[in-house]
Amino acid sequence: MPVRAGKSGNHGKQGTASLYIYWSAVMSEPNEQQARLKLLCDAYAAQLPETLKQIDQVWEKLPRDRWDEENFSTLHRKIHSLSGSGKNFGFSMLGDVARSLESCLQQHAREKTVLNEAQCLHIQVLLSELHQVSMHRDAPEMVEEIDVARVGKRPAGFRHVFVVEDDPALAESLNVQLSYFGYEVSVYHTLSDFRLAMQSNPDVVVMTDITFPEDDWGGINVIKEIQQGRDVPVPVIFVTSHNEFKARLEAVRVGGIQYLSKPVNIGNLIDKLDELTSTLPPASYRVLIVDDSEYITSYYSTILEQAGMEVRAINDPFLVMESLIEFVPDLILLDLYMPECNGMEVARVIRQLDAFVGIPIVFLSAEGNLDKQLMAMGLGGDDFLTKPVEPQHLIASVGNRIKRSLVLRSLMVRDSLTGLLNHTAIKEQLAREVAQAKRQDKPLAFAMIDIDHFKEVNDTHGHPVGDRVIKSIARLLKQRLREIDIIGRYGGEEFAVILSNTDGETAAEVLDAIREDFSQLRHLADENEFCVSFSCGIAEVADFGNAITLCDAADKALYKAKIAGRNQVVRASGLSI
Ligand code: GH3
Ligand code: MG
Ligand code: MG
Repeated sequence: MPVRAGKSGNHGKQGTASLYIYWSAVMSEPNEQQARLKLLCDAYAAQLPETLKQIDQVWEKLPRDRWDEENFSTLHRKIHSLSGSGKNFGFSMLGDVARSLESCLQQHAREKTVLNEAQCLHIQVLLSELHQVSMHRDAPEMVEEIDVARVGKRPAGFRHVFVVEDDPALAESLNVQLSYFGYEVSVYHTLSDFRLAMQSNPDVVVMTDITFPEDDWGGINVIKEIQQGRDVPVPVIFVTSHNEFKARLEAVRVGGIQYLSKPVNIGNLIDKLDELTSTLPPASYRVLIVDDSEYITSYYSTILEQAGMEVRAINDPFLVMESLIEFVPDLILLDLYMPECNGMEVARVIRQLDAFVGIPIVFLSAEGNLDKQLMAMGLGGDDFLTKPVEPQHLIASVGNRIKRSLVLRSLMVRDSLTGLLNHTAIKEQLAREVAQAKRQDKPLAFAMIDIDHFKEVNDTHGHPVGDRVIKSIARLLKQRLREIDIIGRYGGEEFAVILSNTDGETAAEVLDAIREDFSQLRHLADENEFCVSFSCGIAEVADFGNAITLCDAADKALYKAKIAGRNQVVRASGLSI
């Protein structure tokens, strides 16, 4: 068994996985990525003699009696590339010598004067040292451990809720309400049934009462017992009429992550459940890597893919435009020095493209000079990572950059109360989708939704309760529509939905089912329950020329639904369903 070096102590924790990269020949826990890395390291080692030979040739060719810009910069670039890649592929000593050599060459590049004898000798010595250390591959003890915070889809089981409640009426009501919001619910009336169900370690969220007929502290005790047998604690929400400190403390001690008082405020509960189930980023981040070295792009691709990101790598910067348009990355990792055109120039080109002006650009280079780094950032970069980059550092930097930029982007286009697209964004999206549907001759439906008598909700129960109703309809729409459907908050209590590849009839059926369920949701305000409905108008693209007339028709259909008595869906053709 090979020795595992590096940090430890994160094993088995939920959401992290350990990837061990062995620069040595032996690997345990083989998987596809590790095998790829191993192959890469071998390939890198195999091409080293040829690369060093080429370096020698360029050096030999360099005239000693005059300054030769072209050959000198070729030499500089080749050494630069070794200094940035050596360590990643198991040649850390080679990386170090290349870095010394590089800083020496950099100085000459600035002065642009003919090298004197002593300077030539110094470079010569470093070059032969480079040959010597190229034989030295790092030992297995140099192994690095990467803790990868996995970026992926949340586990499906997490939308499953176990409700443990001895009051059958309350249990049933929770069951119905949670189901409306897309949660799968299992109800247990007794602690023993619940205990039995937990024996298979299901991936669920538990909602439990504290007091049961058989045991005053039954909820706490059974959770304590269950948590002891698990590596990963089960997320628990206590729903109880106890409000004293002791009960709250015990709940925290056994791993309760939320504590809600009865009577249950369903809006609040759904908020907590949604928070719990959306702790993992929903989709994988997309990264475009531009670097002339195939070894570097393959290496960084493998590391980022291992962390759950989607990667497109190009070695020719001239392909960057096509890749941006086709791949639509969330971030660009850009090498600074490439033949033909450098990273700063590529960044400036990208920054002049309106559609990509906001995309984060991270320079990735062996350039250690802070002035140069700052200059690169002044020209459109957002960050600078110095090669060789530790894999963990790469994953964290890229992940954090993308997360922040997505938040900023979403602040611009999303409504803060509901998280849905705002008025401007949904209208822009509609224009785009309509044009595409027309081009591809595909159906598309547009729905306008308006809450009925919403003013009364505000007047009777207050504005915050009104806000919660708005949130609940937004959530219901998100949960019940497909991922490709686009939902927006059109105005105060008005919503808009674009259903691509869907005809008017199907759209009306889908929205009518949502309308029916929404009208049965019971909202809570100061222990009073009340129900709210909405009206909806639908128009389909086949009947209308463009986004403006389509939107207008849906609005008119909505108006018809209102005057026909509300709580119904009307199609623009005038048919009520
Ligand atoms: P109708 O069935 O005809 O649509 O009647 P309505 O009462 O829903 O319509 P109206 O347009 O008269 O009233 C809409 C109300 O929605 C008035 C406004 O105060 C309220 N509203 C708009 N935006 C918000 C919001 O963000 N939060 C809350 N709580 N209320 C809002
Ligand atoms: Mg209304
Ligand atoms: Mg209105």
